[in-house]
Amino acid sequence: MVSGIFNPFEELKTKSILETLSLIPRSIAFVFRASPFYFLVSNTSGFIRAGIGALLLWLGKVVIDRVIAVFGSEIDWMFVLLPMIAIVVVRVIRTGISSSSNFVSFMVMQKVDVKSQSLLLNKAADLDLAYYESPHYYDRLYQARSNIHYIQSASLSLIGLVSETFMLIAMFGLLSVLHPMAFLLLFATISPRIFIEGYTARRRFDLDMELTRNNRITYYFQSLLLERENVKEIKIFGLASYFVEKFFKYRDLLIKAYLRLSIHFLKVELVFDVLSMSGLCLVWLYAVYRASTGEITVGDLYMVFGAAQTSKDSIEAWFGQGGSVFENSLYLTRFFELVDLDPRTVDGALNRSMASPRALLPARLEQGIELKNVSFRYPGTDEFVLKDISFFIPASARLAIVGENGAGKTTLVKLLTRFYDPIDGSVCLDGKDYREYELDELRRGITVIFQDFAHYHFSVADNIGVGYVDLINDRTRIEQSAKNGGAHDMAMKLPNQYDTMLGRTYEEGVDLSGGEWQNVAISRAFMSDAQLFILDEPTAALDAFKESEVFDRFAYLTEGRTVVLVSHRFSTVRMADLICVIEDGRVIEYGSHEELVKLNGKYRRMYDAQAERYH
Ligand code: ADP
Repeated sequence: MVSGIFNPFEELKTKSILETLSLIPRSIAFVFRASPFYFLVSNTSGFIRAGIGALLLWLGKVVIDRVIAVFGSEIDWMFVLLPMIAIVVVRVIRTGISSSSNFVSFMVMQKVDVKSQSLLLNKAADLDLAYYESPHYYDRLYQARSNIHYIQSASLSLIGLVSETFMLIAMFGLLSVLHPMAFLLLFATISPRIFIEGYTARRRFDLDMELTRNNRITYYFQSLLLERENVKEIKIFGLASYFVEKFFKYRDLLIKAYLRLSIHFLKVELVFDVLSMSGLCLVWLYAVYRASTGEITVGDLYMVFGAAQTSKDSIEAWFGQGGSVFENSLYLTRFFELVDLDPRTVDGALNRSMASPRALLPARLEQGIELKNVSFRYPGTDEFVLKDISFFIPASARLAIVGENGAGKTTLVKLLTRFYDPIDGSVCLDGKDYREYELDELRRGITVIFQDFAHYHFSVADNIGVGYVDLINDRTRIEQSAKNGGAHDMAMKLPNQYDTMLGRTYEEGVDLSGGEWQNVAISRAFMSDAQLFILDEPTAALDAFKESEVFDRFAYLTEGRTVVLVSHRFSTVRMADLICVIEDGRVIEYGSHEELVKLNGKYRRMYDAQAERYH
């Protein structure tokens, strides 16, 4: 668990080497738990393959030694052929293991992917809206999502590291025939690689983190060009080549940055290669010398040559795998940081720990909802968006909130739906602070039709049914909600009526007009039994007649429930029982339409200005 408050506006620091390495046992445990059987199988096959590598070299030596032993005399075929047959059999076994190890690795990767995706998706769903307000959050999510596959690579490099270790032990045994120090000499000339492995891993990681925003922007331009909703504008404004150019400009930055890094690595790598080659040459020279003095057989010479080359490759691969494990762990820090994030520690997150036992949400609102001296500013900002707001929404009343753009109306809706808690003051339902109720229960008591409601590419029935997901299969309720929300007639005209797919994800998908989508969203709200209905300018896509018709129907159907409406249409606003005028985060007027007109203030001016346009 992360301690302290997480501030999404703060840059994340790269973890230290120790912190990164401490993730290795956790990654092993993660992979093991995701797929114990395949994890063990892949390690066992690594062990066997290492043994086979050594065995083949030894068998080669036996063949050569036996050929030399029978040189000049009559050949005993069984004597020579036996180790050759053994070589063929062992090679067949190795091929079998190699092919099946691809399947085993694939299975490990799939299982690890399922486990990590599920952790990440559940965490993202668990985080409050506060976390979603900052571009840094998207950087984090992007990093965590794109780093997910490092768990798989980490597991593969760990498996690789284990099998390379077995291979090293086997090669050490074979090279000892020449001299026990031969292997150590090779190891010593190759071991400085550990520094370049660690260094390159760190540099690549830092560059990737630095380029996260750049990456996101690159793919943003790509999505602008590929997604349907933008096609019209792109064509009419002739934006295609401008966006393509932008895409390549950002992509170019990436390529150049990686190119510079690769050239830098190449130079360092060359120096280390020369060092390790000189170690190998020394071992070979020594082997030739010992063979020439007759201290080792020609078969031994063959074996030692092979073993020295394989040892060099294996030691390099071993450091390479070690570097990969380190590099993968570095990337994994970003994944685990998100998975470990305690949602309560996010700046601006809801305080869910207050008052227990919880107050019981009334089945029917008795008194109403009251805002008491509410002040609020968004996390990471200093300016208060709502300032000392107090007003009352009586139960069963219809209240309209009006105000100019940026006055704070949507922010007020976010507090009424408890996406945020006020910084000062409180929002009370039937006299009790929102925080005293169970959050899920409170949210079930509220339904909202947002300005930017979702357009699900599901069937009409499911689009409405998600308004009360427990009843998504209740067709009668869905149809009733559609009748209430004004989507029924439209649905009946579609090719498969309520089963018609909406959107263009499916071939048979049908698209709706803005107004029709809005009716679907309104119908969705009618699925719920909520006591508080909030409409945040959901009727903007409807014409003025349609809007007042919707509102009339809404007023009738929500009889007995409490309605909060945010609208710019005064023809609709005037039908509300109460109107609350917000300006610059404060309530400046509050009362019925008649009262506010009489007051001759801001409301009157806005009302008259709009009325004039219709004359
Ligand atoms: P309205 O709905 O009345 O047009 P909003 O409630 O959307 O106004 O916005 C009120 C003020 O809060 C604006 O100045 C806006 O810039 C600011 N604001 C809105 N959302 C955020 C946010 N997520 N983070 C920071 N400031 C915000």
